[in-house]
Amino acid sequence: MISFSEAHALLRSHLLTLEPVRVPLDRSLGRVLARPAVSDIDMPPFNKSAMDGFAVRSADLAGTTPEAPLRLRVAGEVAAGAAPDHAVGPGECLRIFTGAPVPAGADAVVMVEETEALEEEVAFQRPARPGQHVCPKGQDITEGQTVAEAGTVITPAVVGVLAAVGIAEPWVHPTPRVAILATGDEIVPIDRVPGPGQIRNSNAHALAAQARLAGCEVELVAAVGDDETALRDALARSLAHDILLLSGGVSVGKYDLVKAALRHAGVKFVFEKVRIKPGKPVVFGLHGRNRRIFGLPGNPVSAFVTFELFVRPMIRAMQGHATLDNPVVAARLSQAVVNRSGRRNYVPARVRRDANGTTQVSLLEYHGSADLRSLVGANALAILPEVVSELPAGFLCEAMLLPGIAISD
Ligand code: AMP
Ligand code: MG
Repeated sequence: MISFSEAHALLRSHLLTLEPVRVPLDRSLGRVLARPAVSDIDMPPFNKSAMDGFAVRSADLAGTTPEAPLRLRVAGEVAAGAAPDHAVGPGECLRIFTGAPVPAGADAVVMVEETEALEEEVAFQRPARPGQHVCPKGQDITEGQTVAEAGTVITPAVVGVLAAVGIAEPWVHPTPRVAILATGDEIVPIDRVPGPGQIRNSNAHALAAQARLAGCEVELVAAVGDDETALRDALARSLAHDILLLSGGVSVGKYDLVKAALRHAGVKFVFEKVRIKPGKPVVFGLHGRNRRIFGLPGNPVSAFVTFELFVRPMIRAMQGHATLDNPVVAARLSQAVVNRSGRRNYVPARVRRDANGTTQVSLLEYHGSADLRSLVGANALAILPEVVSELPAGFLCEAMLLPGIAISD
């Protein structure tokens, strides 16, 4: 059986990035830019006034003091959106508004608050620094400049910048399409009350939510029983997606038929069985060049954990992300804990920062890999190393933060 790091290395050697597509800017939030974004204009596109006031020639105001104010003739005005038609000559100024182009001749703007309006003139009491309150053309962005490199995650700020530089349809990596197929004779739909020996199909829904949170488009395939023919038929219908997730049927029991059905469908296994707890029977395989197949164990915490460990990084690679894994933090164990499994053990936990600023991790009440409820209050999975069996309180261990949940104090 391979270790987690061996499995993760194998996973990384079979990553895949989806071919770029163009999407409308307003649908690009959260995607990763696939090509550099290049500006078609200078920003600001013209020398722009940062204030309401007067556009002046700074040389005219040299030596001005409150005792010896200077009067300039107001030769007109220029508002935002207007193109000035009058150059400022010596002894003149132009009334100007925030966002308006600074007219030719003028090299500074004096705030209206610092002036005194007279009939046709305006009085100034101080010199103006050349360039004062003027945002020069091209100060922030120049035409032809790359404003965001390929690989940039499109945040709201990036959307704004792309909009400013005229990129209405950025090139991005597409949303992976994920099919989810739960297997098991005991599985019933969630709107049914389970009969004797039955259990609701919570995995399909939890996995779908994990995949959606990771930014995927999900198709829930109707669950199938532990029947080889039914499995083969279902696989034939669900192998068109970028990723196929199966739940259940990958252990060594008499009714664990998923691996045989996958082999029959032409899936090549990259790894099966990893020294982790829960999730040991997890299977990762390839179908053709472009499809990635994960057989996740049926116990709900096992399915959840193996998704976070193996499926999420694959999804993020397909989306073009550079960081693939959930963040892992070092944290002090709040209680002593024993791990005699000989496997790397993931336990539902809460990470918080205590009053001293130390990151602490508390293991939550947890009854094993069927106990999905334990994850309700979790914001992390504590990682208990396979080689240390007794971990005292205060032991510095790692915790993998779960996506979409903040750490509170
Ligand atoms: P398996 O991996 O098929 O051996 O399943 C292990 C256990 O996981 C089963 O005994 C069920 O209790 C549970 N299980 C399997 N599939 C699901 C599912 N889709 N939703 C919730 N629990 C499941
Ligand atoms: Mg089963």
